[in-house]
Amino acid sequence: MAATILEGKKIAEEIRGEVAAEIKNMAEAGVRPGLAVILVGHNPASEIYVRGKVKSSEELGIYSEKLTPPETISTEQLLDLVHDLNRRDEIDGILVQLPLPSHVDAKKVLMAVDPAKDVDGFHPMNVGFLSTQRPGLVPCTPAGVIEILERSGIPIAGQEAVVVGRSDIVGKPTAMLLLNRSATVTVCHSKTRDLPGVCRRADILVAAIGRPGMITREFVKPGATVIDVGINTVTDRDEFNRFFAGNAKREEAFRAKGSTLVGDVHPEVAEVAGAITPVPGGVGPLTIAMLMSNTVKAARMRRGSRIAELSRA
Ligand code: NAP
Repeated sequence: MAATILEGKKIAEEIRGEVAAEIKNMAEAGVRPGLAVILVGHNPASEIYVRGKVKSSEELGIYSEKLTPPETISTEQLLDLVHDLNRRDEIDGILVQLPLPSHVDAKKVLMAVDPAKDVDGFHPMNVGFLSTQRPGLVPCTPAGVIEILERSGIPIAGQEAVVVGRSDIVGKPTAMLLLNRSATVTVCHSKTRDLPGVCRRADILVAAIGRPGMITREFVKPGATVIDVGINTVTDRDEFNRFFAGNAKREEAFRAKGSTLVGDVHPEVAEVAGAITPVPGGVGPLTIAMLMSNTVKAARMRRGSRIAELSRA
């Protein structure tokens, strides 16, 4: 039987609706959440991501500011920018779009972001809060993975969860969120032995690898839930055929655009999984929705008492 498709787009819309309602309440109390995005240089993919983040902020009524220093900016100059944003009260969230140019000390820059404004959840303080189950800001993509599971009614507690990928941005925080919800979690990486065998143990399999279609049907236990975090662009005709031969809709789009997106999970997995996220339209839309949610959360955490006072007035 074909897998249930977990429509991330719909879930992201639901979350955006909730965030918009909270922004409206805050506005009545005289508070407008603010997000600053720093985009260094002209990385085309980063420019697209940042455009999406700014557009989404504007649609929801979040004040947004885009800072676009040149590629040549030094670590010290970038630190000055971050410190300035840390000091500004109307800015609740600061996001430094990665990757930064290689001459910039990215770790130093991310460390400089005030943890209370760290809407990406990358600061070691927020990483610590997550691993000790204290309130903090959680990385957007992993938080989105959990929203998909929970809002789709997929049980987590007691389930075998396997996360392929151990990056600080996706794999590790996703594993921690699953563990905090009482899944039995295995984290895999490039040195894992018998990866297909380990993955086949999973009731919930999360792929965050960055390798197009690597997870094929032999990695998946029949009926498992598969969350595909990967976003890979396919431009090569042979590679396209390997994933989408016979798929008329994809064929038409590929011919028109010369490229298409594929996740880290081979589309054939939909024939064995119980539920699966599509690419595009799965985890991707959740990432921006959770950024909006984190910005509002940061405003509530930092300015909460003022909001309560103003609402009483
Ligand atoms: P990353 O930092 O490159 O990490 C990739 C991880 O996959 C590493 O832990 C690596 O293992 C592991 N890996 C690589 N090849 C492997 C193999 N053959 N077998 C087993 N493990 C392997 O990537 P990332 O930033 O986590 O991103 C992962 C994917 O998610 C990418 O496709 C990215 O575009 C996508 N992404 C999507 C969103 C979204 O909004 N949907 C957000 C962020 C990222 P080692 O640690 O041993 O090297």
